[in-house]
Amino acid sequence: MRKNIVAGNWKMNTTLPEGLALAKGLNDALKNKTTNCDVIIGTPFTHLASVVAAIDTDKIGVAAENCADKEKGAYTGEVSAAMVASTGAKYVILGHSERRAYYHETPEILKTKVELALANGLTPIFCIGEVLAEREAGKHFEVVDEQIKGSLFNLSAEDFAKIILAYEPVWAIGTGKTATADQAEEIHAHIRATLAAQYGQEIADNCTILYGGSCNASNAKELFSKPDVDGGLIGGASLSVEKFLPIIEAFDK
Ligand code: PEP
Repeated sequence: MRKNIVAGNWKMNTTLPEGLALAKGLNDALKNKTTNCDVIIGTPFTHLASVVAAIDTDKIGVAAENCADKEKGAYTGEVSAAMVASTGAKYVILGHSERRAYYHETPEILKTKVELALANGLTPIFCIGEVLAEREAGKHFEVVDEQIKGSLFNLSAEDFAKIILAYEPVWAIGTGKTATADQAEEIHAHIRATLAAQYGQEIADNCTILYGGSCNASNAKELFSKPDVDGGLIGGASLSVEKFLPIIEAFDK
């Protein structure tokens, strides 16, 4: 069966010493604890190798927040999937709405990034989600389907089975507005049906679909109790152990 996962996305926050302190703090908090979900932290590129070295990566997986759409070469400032993998990070967040909106990442670019991530042994955490106007126009189902088809449905079933999805309604990211648990379940179930139509029910049932968008200690339990919500991608509340730990504990019995 699919895994439950709580993943943090630090975005462009924390200096290296601050990030290391945060990672070590989480590591300490989880050291003697059995969690009912996998835990991942997504850190800036500059932190990856040091964070991997400082924590127990059997307990906490490490993710980059992006990688290049080119393999290597004269692309000043870019960081390749191979470079990310060489730090010991095992995951990469791709297609975050901030990357789509501010850095003009198209479905085609993201398709290449996913392929390069997989070719380098990284597990993509692939983000999808509609903006407010699309939700208000009732187009959210269509939007997520197009995002999935445009960047992922070229994959073989074997490769698709390695993908983690994160449904993140853009209107809920960093706004304090959360989708209700029923809204999340409705679209997660829709996404799973879209996956089943392409890859079959077994692969769809095994795909972890995270919810993201102002998820916090007070709403995590209700969101995660829904059958098609397999955990969360957490922005703001992943920046302190005090806020992140209770979200992980939302999976405790
Ligand atoms: C995110 O950016 O992935 C996110 C879900 O952010 P927040 O939790 O702050 O809304």
